[in-house]
Amino acid sequence: MAAQEFDFFVIGGGSGGVRAARIAAQHGAKVGIAESYRFGGTCVIRGCVPKKLFVYAGRFRDEFEEAQGFGWSLNATPSFDWPTLIANKDREIARLENAYRSNLEKAGVTIFEGHARFKDANTLHIDGRDGDIRAAKSLIATGGTPNLDHRVPGIEHVITSNEAFHLETFPKRIVIAGGGYIACEFAGIFAGLGADVTQIYRGPEILRGFDDEVRTHVREAMEARGVRFAFNQVFTKIEKTGDGLVGHTTAGEALVGDQIMFAIGRSPNVDGLGLDGLGVEQGANGKIVVDATSRTSVDSIYAVGDVTDRVNLTPVAIREGHALADMLFSSGKGDVDHDLIPTAVFTTPEIGTVGLTEQDARERYRVLDIYRSTFRPMKSTLGGGTEKMLLKLLVDGESDRVVGCHIVGPDAGEMAQLLGIALKMGATKADFDRTMALHPTAAEELVTMRQVSEQVVRDAVE
Ligand code: FAD
Repeated sequence: MAAQEFDFFVIGGGSGGVRAARIAAQHGAKVGIAESYRFGGTCVIRGCVPKKLFVYAGRFRDEFEEAQGFGWSLNATPSFDWPTLIANKDREIARLENAYRSNLEKAGVTIFEGHARFKDANTLHIDGRDGDIRAAKSLIATGGTPNLDHRVPGIEHVITSNEAFHLETFPKRIVIAGGGYIACEFAGIFAGLGADVTQIYRGPEILRGFDDEVRTHVREAMEARGVRFAFNQVFTKIEKTGDGLVGHTTAGEALVGDQIMFAIGRSPNVDGLGLDGLGVEQGANGKIVVDATSRTSVDSIYAVGDVTDRVNLTPVAIREGHALADMLFSSGKGDVDHDLIPTAVFTTPEIGTVGLTEQDARERYRVLDIYRSTFRPMKSTLGGGTEKMLLKLLVDGESDRVVGCHIVGPDAGEMAQLLGIALKMGATKADFDRTMALHPTAAEELVTMRQVSEQVVRDAVE
């Protein structure tokens, strides 16, 4: 059977791949795309979207409690039904998956269902299909997969975030291994839905890489919400017993759960891609090494998104895929600005952040002004919540530029998105100060913090 010819062939129908394929086709290229699981990729099928739906589900507990302070009485004790959440979530995910597929079709992209691998730099094969694909240019957009520690006996009993979205029965007790954002978000979700949650982490504090004050604030709030932390330890063995799973740890603890979930990081998904002998340079963890324009060490092959392990977030993968398609089939330089990316962590309480952490800003600037405000959100006054909100601005004391902003509390992610614009424009503290407050909001604190909470001056001789 003759090979099917394409100008551009995309491997992976996730955030980066779908965007690159669609834009390339809109620019007039003949484009094909292969997806081995479900169109939409990690974000839509088993990442950002179902996770956020679960986060919403977990937060109703607070709403029910707070409502009473505002005069509502709940005549029955609210109860939660896991199968209803799963079924409704699955329906929404299927809708989004169809939208991704139909947008590709509308743009004229040829869709292949199956695992794709390279036979040589310009020839690909898709499992279960006769004949090869010939592609002038191709894109690896295969994302990442959750890591498991295969040295731990009994590891076959654990789940990852992939399975957490499809559990048939709600785990009344769950142990989550990991300290990153996915582990913390799931700890918050399951605790909110009523599970008994323990989070085990090899380090001394959750959310490495985030602002230290934010990390402590969120961990304390999670503890107050019932999450138990087992720090400075890892699993040595996992046993299946009549009373669920028991995870034995290096600190001699035995952590019991109906499920044990590993969220200890993710690795680039390069398995079975046929890269051996192709000359595509890879990093130690398998990541595809690319230049600023997403070009690999092989001329006709490009890579975007999590498989390149640059900044592993959906909007970044989308932007990289879009920029690449513009560069290859229209005009555009192909590079993407990875600086000042606003980020949220959907723990409860939520984190929104953009710019430098205090630790990094202290190293970078000679004079650092720290503005900090902690307060009880207005809703808690009648609602009865005790959790405090944290807002923190980091300002270069010499140029007056705002170089970092960190928020913990309701809608922190929404605020960080908007603050991202201000920081990207180079806003100074004076710009924040001359912006009129919007009252009564929590965000108004960002433009009313007049007094420096702390000034750090680095020794000039350093
Ligand atoms: P993916 O979206 O992973 O797509 C890769 C696709 O390639 C997959 O569909 C896969 O099946 C397919 N594939 C792999 N190999 C082959 C092959 N050989 N042939 C054919 N198809 C193949 N990011 C955010 O910005 N915000 C969030 O809140 C957020 N939450 C997350 C929560 C979780 C639990 C997880 C796991 C991730 C989350 N992310 C979040 C990260 C985000 O999902 C990824 O950064 C994003 O999906 C990366 O897009 P991608 O195109 O690189 O890869």
